[in-house]
Amino acid sequence: MGEQFDLVVIGGGSGGLAAAQRAAEYGARALVIESGRLGGTCVNVGCVPKKIMWNGAELGGALADAREYGFAAAEAAHDFGALKARRDAYITRLNDIYAANLARRSVELLRGRASFVDPRTVSAAGRTLSAPHVIIATGGRPLLPRIPGAELGITSDGFFELAALPPRVVVVGGGYIAVELSGIFAGLGAETSLVLRAATPLRGFDPMIGETSAAMLRAAGVTLLTGGVPAALVRGSAGLTLELTDGRSVGPADCVLWAIGRQAESGDLAPERAGVRLGTDGFVTTDMYQATSAAGVYAVGDVTGRAQLTPVAIAAGRRLADRLFGGQAGRHLDYDQIPTVIFGRPPIGTVGLTEPAARARYGHDAVKAFRSGFVPLYHAVTEAKPRTEMKLVTLGPEQRIVGLHVVGAGADEMLQGFAVAVRMGATKKDFDETLAIHPTSAEDFVTMR
Ligand code: FAD
Ligand code: NDP
Repeated sequence: MGEQFDLVVIGGGSGGLAAAQRAAEYGARALVIESGRLGGTCVNVGCVPKKIMWNGAELGGALADAREYGFAAAEAAHDFGALKARRDAYITRLNDIYAANLARRSVELLRGRASFVDPRTVSAAGRTLSAPHVIIATGGRPLLPRIPGAELGITSDGFFELAALPPRVVVVGGGYIAVELSGIFAGLGAETSLVLRAATPLRGFDPMIGETSAAMLRAAGVTLLTGGVPAALVRGSAGLTLELTDGRSVGPADCVLWAIGRQAESGDLAPERAGVRLGTDGFVTTDMYQATSAAGVYAVGDVTGRAQLTPVAIAAGRRLADRLFGGQAGRHLDYDQIPTVIFGRPPIGTVGLTEPAARARYGHDAVKAFRSGFVPLYHAVTEAKPRTEMKLVTLGPEQRIVGLHVVGAGADEMLQGFAVAVRMGATKKDFDETLAIHPTSAEDFVTMR
């Protein structure tokens, strides 16, 4: 038996901080244990610094368009180091704000690496801490491929350490991070190749998204190598060469970045001492209430392996605290209809079912899809003509919208409001009855035929 708390949270990232703070708002005595920088992946090596880099790449695109908008734009050299310095300074400010937020709510922060002693007891930084409720919110870390020379490449964590833009980059993977970082590299001026196993990126998304994002990446100057499975990474005098299993090779490059998924950060928690069962890649198995196989031990966020997104970790953490400390029995997170944006260039937004998934679930004839594709008005006067593509997936005679997908400028800001409508059960008729806002790209969602 150690020092007694009402709640011990392991991990001070999106999910852990949200759970601890919500519990403290209900009067619980909560403690957060964090071994790294406060705020976790999202704040330090994820969403926040990524979005700043994406903004930088977008600005590069705008500068290229500026001439066609009548500006006598001078050749604008990009100072990667200056952007990194401003970005890092902002993140440091955020770290301090997060610490202040904990202090304001009287949540104790313990700096150290935690591991279980038993289901109710955790040790960290030489202290032993006990609570009737323990939340595992330890997140994840990037996977490396099991091939010779893998250690010569970097991951998304290394991306945020780069002090200068590598002139020649190879990104490996076809998911969120591969699409986002290859777009950013190319947008900031690196010669960029993307190596992916499938025929298009974003394989699990609606086919419209995969096809369009492949075309967009090519238009943004990224060289796509599809059907490419890495076999070895080799350093030569001219740089790094990625060898593929089919005999092709890519390079030489100055930087190879693996973006092939993430594994759970659960290895050194000693979960077996608490009776917490792990699944594939160390992810903690939970039920719909975020409960693990051990009574009193819960897990939220990336460490559960489900929908690895910041708002999901936050919502799961808050709802768990509502249930444990706020008297809201039954409160839990519904993992359906999670809106998500991939910050590609242009961005990609999606909520609900893909067309193939809807047809598989409800039968081919019960589903009707509507499409729209156009060059946005912004590009009417530019030489570059990136298209916007949209799709609505509807169900049944009432045409309830069960999937909404968009690739194109503004998709990131467009999706949130539409996600509310989809969650409320909007039908195609509701969309059709809504007046358009003209001239926008979003208006095509309410004018599709
Ligand atoms: P984390 O935020 O990873 O926090 C876990 C914390 O636990 C870490 O601070 C870690 O140091 C700590 N920890 C681990 N083990 C221990 C231990 N034994 N003892 C003490 N502390 C420990 N999501 C979005 O929604 N939008 C985006 O745009 C987006 N972009 C991303 C870009 C990148 C490059 C990456 C990698 C991820 C991105 N994500 C994005 C995903 C998002 O970052 C995660 O879903 C989110 O951070 C998960 O929160 P979490 O609390 O589960 O884990
Ligand atoms: P993803 O799961 O999105 O994609 C992994 C990709 O890696 C897939 O394309 C997969 O290919 C490929 N892959 C897997 N293993 C190998 C291998 N051995 N060799 C080559 N390719 C391989 O993972 P990410 O790492 O991109 O991102 C992790 C998670 O972080 C995301 O799922 C997302 O939840 C979160 N995230 C969210 C962001 C956002 O909200 N904007 C941004 C960044 C990350 P295949 O398709 O062939 O299976």
